[in-house]
Amino acid sequence: MSTNNISLDVISTPVKPALLSLSPLSLKAWIMEKQQPAHRLVQIQQWLLLKRCMAFSDMSDLPKSLRDDLANDFALYSEEIEVHKIAEDDTRKLILKLQDGNRIECVLMKEESRRTVCVSTQVGCAMGCVFCASGIDGVVRNLKAYEILEQMILARNLLPESERLSHVVIMGMGEPMANLDNLLEALETACSPKGLGLSARHITISTVGLPVKIKQLADTGKQYHLAVSLHAPNDEIRSKIVPTNAKIGIYEVLDAADYFQEVTGRQVTFEYILLGGINDQNDHAHELASLLKKRKAHVNLIPFNRVQGLPFLKPEQEAVHEFVRILKASGQTVTVRKRKGADIDAACGQLRRASAQKIKD
Ligand code: SAH
Repeated sequence: MSTNNISLDVISTPVKPALLSLSPLSLKAWIMEKQQPAHRLVQIQQWLLLKRCMAFSDMSDLPKSLRDDLANDFALYSEEIEVHKIAEDDTRKLILKLQDGNRIECVLMKEESRRTVCVSTQVGCAMGCVFCASGIDGVVRNLKAYEILEQMILARNLLPESERLSHVVIMGMGEPMANLDNLLEALETACSPKGLGLSARHITISTVGLPVKIKQLADTGKQYHLAVSLHAPNDEIRSKIVPTNAKIGIYEVLDAADYFQEVTGRQVTFEYILLGGINDQNDHAHELASLLKKRKAHVNLIPFNRVQGLPFLKPEQEAVHEFVRILKASGQTVTVRKRKGADIDAACGQLRRASAQKIKD
């Protein structure tokens, strides 16, 4: 009977806790229980964080019996690479399956000597930005710290031995400031020399702009780079395309960004999506220029990436050039985001949707 099959299935695939989900204290207690010396803890941590371990059998300096015990009680990682797409420019887009069956996206990008991983902080997103694929179905849950960290590890493990992961951008699915405590915990390990050895300055946290959380991040005194998704030069347009703005307001967001810059001494980047005919006209560029005039900020323009089912248009090339010209003339530094992995649905949340659709079909 099918009900029996289902219950058998559940019994035969119990979820083992992933090693990184355990606190060092709990893992130490487990090691003691197995009557192993305490330094095994550091060895196991090194395998996961520093060496590119993809199987318990890789842990060659542990006794075979301990490796077997580990495999019996734990999963090596909680995330499994379900889809691995490689674009013409060698951008790697991963769909990772979590232990509860949810899926998230993670992207590995290569540019000159930089190796950057783009990680998710939530399954889905609650912010509802009208142009973004990640939030179309709302938010399911926050990722745990180890689930955020594992994305960096699994992407790093795809690099050849001669290459190291140098940068992290928190620009995958979800709103990082809505899961700040778990993100900060993951970044602590990412930036530790005994962890992934990354520099805080090479980590960019992109936010829709939640002022209280931006200030909390500033007060940690960490040197993370902050990118604020401004996307509009005034409240009227911003509230239409970034719904959270309606109750916050653009000036609160700018105040929080100013506070971050003041406290950390780090220049803030303002991201600005260009949606054809909506916020990409010369008047908008002039208005943005005056809004940012007294600020020493950086503007990163992001031409809209088409999302299936959404009605927005890419900006005309000419509109992008004019926008850049006007901002530069007013003294701002400006970049236009290059499209990476264009042939593999590499925009926010798109691959997961495309693949969820295929699974449904
Ligand atoms: N929640 C965070 C991270 C989102 S992803 C934030 O709001 O910043 C990183 C950037 O990609 C954000 O600026 C986001 O607004 C933008 N983005 C989302 N969908 C996009 C699309 N279809 N085309 C271009 N940029 C998009």
